[in-house]
Amino acid sequence: MNAEELRECMVGMGEPGWRGRQLAEALYRQRIVDVEGITTLPKALRQKLAKEGWQVGRPRIAQVFTSVDGTERYLVQGQTPDGLTVEAVWMPEGDGGEAGDGFEDGSKYAEAGPLRQTQGRLSAAPATRASLGRDRATICISSQMGCAVNCQFCLTAKLGLQRNLTAGEIAGQVVAVLDRHGVEVGKDRVNLVFMGMGEPFLNYDNFMAAVRLLVEEVGLSPQRMTVSTSGIVPGIERFAEEPPEVRPKLAISLNAPNDAIRSEVMPINRKWPIESVVDAVRAVRLRSRERITFEYVLLGGVTDQPEHAAELARLVRRTGLSAKVNLIAWNPGPGIAYTTPRSEAVETFRRTLAAEGVPVYLRRPRGRDIYAACGQLKRTVEG
Ligand code: SAH
Ligand code: SF4
Repeated sequence: MNAEELRECMVGMGEPGWRGRQLAEALYRQRIVDVEGITTLPKALRQKLAKEGWQVGRPRIAQVFTSVDGTERYLVQGQTPDGLTVEAVWMPEGDGGEAGDGFEDGSKYAEAGPLRQTQGRLSAAPATRASLGRDRATICISSQMGCAVNCQFCLTAKLGLQRNLTAGEIAGQVVAVLDRHGVEVGKDRVNLVFMGMGEPFLNYDNFMAAVRLLVEEVGLSPQRMTVSTSGIVPGIERFAEEPPEVRPKLAISLNAPNDAIRSEVMPINRKWPIESVVDAVRAVRLRSRERITFEYVLLGGVTDQPEHAAELARLVRRTGLSAKVNLIAWNPGPGIAYTTPRSEAVETFRRTLAAEGVPVYLRRPRGRDIYAACGQLKRTVEG
């Protein structure tokens, strides 16, 4: 519930409307987890709420996988009877994806280090505040259970769409992870990326309602949030109308230098080809220094050749947008017949773009050993 809904709920119980604001403060700012703990409300009202069956609907972190690189992957369980879990990821030092978009100094993360391929271990112990350090952390959250978009390289696609998440379930993932790491909003630097399972723009209303909760009630900045879309044009058009106070930054999963290849790896391109996506993106009024991110997954032999880089550079320049490119080396998954690009190919690709004057960053794969990296999110264990 947002503040207005909480107000209506209180009024419905014969209470003054401002009790709704008190509730919002308690639930979202102070992040109190049970009705009894909301001491700003009179005891009698708390008892009445409890008696009527009201609960603080917090999702539960049902399982934690910890990577050798410090990344944590969570199975987050909602409170609906279907008991479905979604996945969220905590990256203590980000993954470099936020580099160069006008709000972060990403220089430190521009280069990807070598991958350590070690088995992930299961961990239930909550991390301590010390793990937050002074550096930024990035939380990656899901917008749908599964995904209907069918990108050929993505593990989540294999699930198909199971259902949309509610606004509470989307924002709840964030709050659960903030709590686990003792994050103090306003003090600690956290970035949020809507890049987990699902296509946010195919669950637009719930996605934006979650953003508004996170901005207006939890207190996170939309300039530290990035939503990634596979290019759902009607969603981008609606997004362009959102006021800057609540609009996250935008990332487009481009993943190919032309329509022919894109239609092959992302069949959605047949419905909304590159030019139509770019046209929709042009309507977004960027803040000063803000950039559009084009994500580009490098598929070995398929999209990682020097001629692809040159064509991509021309494409990005042609858009005339203030933009940067985030390169992501493809992360493998069972039953997907692509190959990881060779590291020399990645480097040549990066250099070609840079030489063409296109701002380019390499996203560090995080938590590959625990299937937490981009495109690897799929329920592998039931919570
Ligand atoms: N559905 C949205 C957001 C989630 S996917 C979207 O597609 O944009 C987040 C990013 O991971 C996308 O840019 C996607 O192209 C990328 N991705 C998907 N599968 C991947 C894989 N196996 N390896 C690397 N990146 C992948
Ligand atoms: Fe869905 Fe994004 Fe995966 Fe495509 S890449 S299948 S849109 S989650």
